[in-house]
Amino acid sequence: MTTSPKRVLLAKPRGYCAGVDRAVQTVEKALDLYGAPVYVRKEIVHNKHVVTTLQARGAIFVEENEEVPEGSVVIFSAHGVAPEVYAQAKERSLKAIDATCPLVTKVHHEARRFANDDYDILLIGHEGHEEVIGTTGQAPARITLVDGPDSVEQVEVRDPSKVVWLSQTTLSVDETMETVNRLKLKLPLLQAPPSDDICYATQNRQLAVKEIAPECDVVLVVGSQNSSNSQRLREVAVDCGSKAGYLIDFASEIQEEWLTDATTVGLTSGASVPDELVMDVLAFLAERGFTSVTEVNTAEERLTFSLPQELKRDMKAAAARA
Ligand code: SF4
Repeated sequence: MTTSPKRVLLAKPRGYCAGVDRAVQTVEKALDLYGAPVYVRKEIVHNKHVVTTLQARGAIFVEENEEVPEGSVVIFSAHGVAPEVYAQAKERSLKAIDATCPLVTKVHHEARRFANDDYDILLIGHEGHEEVIGTTGQAPARITLVDGPDSVEQVEVRDPSKVVWLSQTTLSVDETMETVNRLKLKLPLLQAPPSDDICYATQNRQLAVKEIAPECDVVLVVGSQNSSNSQRLREVAVDCGSKAGYLIDFASEIQEEWLTDATTVGLTSGASVPDELVMDVLAFLAERGFTSVTEVNTAEERLTFSLPQELKRDMKAAAARA
């Protein structure tokens, strides 16, 4: 009797995107430059490992500016903030460094521009997510949240000929289009965003998972529970044919019974996950006979973002003094 070889299909692109890389580097460079502690409002990115690693270096994570001692350095997370958060920081004389991903800032600009042109804006996204709170704060009187296709029925607008949809950057592409199609049935003159709001990294990671999922008995997604793009990867994997999908922070969370009848395991990670955590999962799987690893590459990513201006200015000044 022959047994099928156990194998891993490793999705690529996976893990860190340009916005997360920039945000994490912002905290690291700020610690080097100003010394510990440096305060960070909210989790800099939604990943347990990243947050605990930065805490060990001297970052203090807070929920609101009022927890930051007056005059201290505070960094705003990659998910973006509402304008009132900058105002509060100014009132407390905080030195604010904005690590908002430039692709989230782009959506903020769109929201303000359409609000200035007196549009109603339908923001497709998940209620309570930090990015949605930050984007809504750009034009609260004009933005209505649409949390998935089932929320479309309750949507009301002032003028059906002057309405546009925007979205959170980390949604499922397919589910968002389902929501948009339902909105269009109700509002045929609905306008689309000037360019994709769901970012390149979210789209690329979902495409790579779609490629491997039909061949997988189980797909493991490395990512935290509060990471929107990681949750979507697990959903996309199951929707696209994997018999099962699990979201885990660490290899130690894998349950042996998930692998009992599996021959092919798919593996990917969310945009806020360092690749060392994926390598830990590969080692865990290798110990259980999954020694054949094939990387399935569906896109090349070369995008990088420069550090926030305010930090770069201080780094330059420090270098000139040295
Ligand atoms: S997932 Fe997209 S929007 Fe979010 S930080 Fe990464 S590149 Fe920016």
